[in-house]
This record gives sequence, C-alpha cells and structure tokens, in this order.
Amino acid sequence: MKSLPYFCRGEVIRGFGRGSKELGIPTANFPDSVVDNLPADIGTGIYYGWACVGNGDVYKMVMSIGWNPYYKNTKKSMETHVIHTFKEDFYGEILSVVMVGYIRPERSYDSLVEALITAISNDIEEAKAKLELPEHLKLRKDNFFTSVPSSSSAVPSTAASTSQTIMNGH
Ligand code: ADP
Ligand code: MG
Repeated sequence: MKSLPYFCRGEVIRGFGRGSKELGIPTANFPDSVVDNLPADIGTGIYYGWACVGNGDVYKMVMSIGWNPYYKNTKKSMETHVIHTFKEDFYGEILSVVMVGYIRPERSYDSLVEALITAISNDIEEAKAKLELPEHLKLRKDNFFTSVPSSSSAVPSTAASTSQTIMNGH
C-alpha cells in the first residue's frame, strides 16, 4: 500500500455507540474531516501503528477502517484502539496516529461476539509484535508526535490535512 506510513490527526468524536468499550476494546472515532482525506488506496480493514492523545506518550494501536452506517456505507469510518489503559475517556482531545501496516480485511461476524473478541485480540498481538521491528519502532519517535497543536478548539479541520501533506510528502 503506497500511502503507508500514513500520518493523520483529529479530534476524538462520539462513535456509533456500538458498545466497543463494553467488549473491552474502546475505539476512538475520527471526524469526517480526517476520514475524507484518506487516500483511496487505503481500503477497509484492520491496520496497526502508533498513536498519541494530546501531548501524551506514544502507544501502539490497531485501527479499523470500515464503512460508516451513518452514511449508508458510502463513506469510511476510522476507529482507533490504543493499546494502553487510560484512566479517563478522551473525547474532544486530539488523537495523532501513524498507520504503518495492514493486518487483514474487514469481516462480518454478525452476532458472533466471541469470534469478534478473539479476532481483535489476535490483531492486537500481531500489531504489538510487528511494531517491534526497527523500521516501525523508529516512527514512534517521529517529530509528528511532538508537534501536536495544544488545543482542540484551536485546530481547524484543515490542520490534519496540512500535517498529512507535510508528513506524507517525505
Ligand atoms: P464510541 O462509540 O463513542 O466510539 P467506544 O465504546 O468505542 O465509544 O469508546 C471509545 C472512547 O473510549 C474513546 O473515544 C475514548 O474517549 C475512550 N477510550 C478509553 N480508552 C481507550 C483506548 N485504549 N483506545 C481508544 N479509546 C479509548
Ligand atoms: Mg468507538
């Protein structure tokens, strides 16, 4: 996938209330402004990479890119599970991510909750292991994660695309 690694950031918004947190796998959702900038070659599926909330530490993450039911599945959604236990929710904060690799396509599990949980824990293990590769570890230290705008309200929707252009142009 030629667009990887892919850098982006945006405010964490409320998701579809699918109950990810109840499954033990909360997923932080990006707004349309971030989703709309995704390059066409980044298809639906599960990705892994690095993420940081605000000016916080950089953690491993897995991201699901799927079709957004709010838009009758014509637009994508981006949901990031940060592999870290946070003390509090972080709605409204800026989430910065770099997607570095692809794990698998999206699957439809219907009501097979057990299978879903197992699949996601496998994805998390795969992400953790792959991110230990030197080529991926170095992205954790990328300047992208130390140049987070200080306030979510001060970030216009174009900020994410500007940083993407800069970061992905290198
Ligand atoms: P929603 O439908 O609003 O996305 P979720 O059940 O998916 O609800 O929970 C997502 C929210 O949980 C995030 O927006 C964030 O504020 C919080 N959260 C807490 N820990 C994490 C984590 N490790 N990864 C992602 N989000 C987390
Ligand atoms: Mg969610």
